[in-house]
Amino acid sequence: MTLSNIERKIIENSIRDIKDFPKPGIVFKDITTLLNDKEAYGVLMNHLYQRYKEYNLDYIAGIDARGFIFGAALAQMLRVGFVPIRKKGKLPYTTISEKYSLEYGVDEVEIHIDAFSSIENARVLLIDDLIATGGTANAAATLVKQAGAQCIEACFIIALSFLDGVENLESKTDVYSLIEVN
Ligand code: AMP
Repeated sequence: MTLSNIERKIIENSIRDIKDFPKPGIVFKDITTLLNDKEAYGVLMNHLYQRYKEYNLDYIAGIDARGFIFGAALAQMLRVGFVPIRKKGKLPYTTISEKYSLEYGVDEVEIHIDAFSSIENARVLLIDDLIATGGTANAAATLVKQAGAQCIEACFIIALSFLDGVENLESKTDVYSLIEVN
């Protein structure tokens, strides 16, 4: 199931562009205005529920930090567990970690080693607000597999299609993005 044009417009119109944040040349896609708009947030969550209710998922894994907002809400709607994939140093128990490159330097994400251990070969949906270069999502999908689960799909509200993030991630998992920004 994909988004209707009306639904897409409602969601698109609720996302605010902030120029030159966090640094010059970046247009930051601010989803706080989407969360603030009960109609747009409702349209989004209902669409995600309708799409994923047939996927027979066991868990939603959300990427730090905005992926937690959509992921945790969707997990409750689907009655499945939620797993946070966090920036390095935040998770208290034993973790598996994965480094990825940024424009300058490297970053690292982590998952609890036992996050999916209650279900063998668990079916996991990965979710974040936005995919840019795909570095974060690629590392997150690797962690899902290393923790013993299957990444069934990676879902993003927004994909920056002038970067090749989606293309790169598609070698690892199916990808679904609601809005493409050129
Ligand atoms: P990347 O690893 O390059 O795909 O970057 C994705 C992560 O950075 C996501 O967690 C996004 O929330 C954040 N991000 C990157 N670019 C933007 C942007 N233009 N607007 C909002 N968030 C962004």
